[in-house]
Amino acid sequence: MNRSVLVTGASRGIGAAAARAFAAAGDRVAIHYSASADSAAQVLKELPGSGHLTVQADLADPAAIEAMVSDAATALGGIDVLVNNAGIYHPHRIRETTYAEWQQAWADTLAVNLVGPSNVTWCAVRHMSRGGRIVNVSSRGAFRGEPNQPAYGASKAAIVSFTQSLARALGPEGIAVTAIAPGWTVTDMAAVNLAGDGYDRRRLESPLERVADPSEVAAAILYLASREAEFATGTVLDFNGGSYLRM
Ligand code: NAD
Repeated sequence: MNRSVLVTGASRGIGAAAARAFAAAGDRVAIHYSASADSAAQVLKELPGSGHLTVQADLADPAAIEAMVSDAATALGGIDVLVNNAGIYHPHRIRETTYAEWQQAWADTLAVNLVGPSNVTWCAVRHMSRGGRIVNVSSRGAFRGEPNQPAYGASKAAIVSFTQSLARALGPEGIAVTAIAPGWTVTDMAAVNLAGDGYDRRRLESPLERVADPSEVAAAILYLASREAEFATGTVLDFNGGSYLRM
């Protein structure tokens, strides 16, 4: 499609799958990473097409984000699509954490999962024009709660509201903003929960009796970012294998 795409957290998991999907569709992709330069370089090497690059920033660092988005926009000649995918998911059970640990978990999680994407978006829209697309990666946990990671659930619920606000703010400029709320997907983030008998428990939440592959989530992100999906602006796509039907 020959668009300029920035995907955060694209060195692995859903972000890497999204980078592959956009590149396969003919787009140029900036593969954002935080610490894993080697993995990002590997994703870059494997992408079809040309004009792709890697860009680095810790999403908890607003100055690094500004420089990263500027690097991506300069190399790609603007930004047509932003995928706010990077995120963290660290357990912090209310009965099992100290008060200090609890505060740290909230600060870290909100910094990367909420304030980070909001800062990336602020910077990216300055390089985006009519026809632009923003896809935010939320989670099923936004709607069901996350008993062991309450800050994660709250951050993903806030991403839904952020999506709606930005859809209203940017709609008159012809920029559509959507979110996807995946269920269990086979990535490093879900590895602990999908290990051992956890896998069977989680796959049976879905009537399909399986969890998602990152490529499936990536295909849905590609659709939400497409020109044809403009009228879906403000939408949060449930992508959890129909798991609500078994609850
Ligand atoms: P993952 O852990 O494989 O990938 C997360 C990415 O975020 C990595 O590339 C990581 O480097 C990046 N990241 C983490 N901290 C960062 C920081 N401080 N600065 C910059 N980048 C940082 O997990 P994933 O499953 O591919 O997660 C992608 C998105 O999907 C996340 O937003 C996650 O919350 C969401 N999600 C995942 C699942 C699932 O079951 N895997 C379900 C629902 C939602």
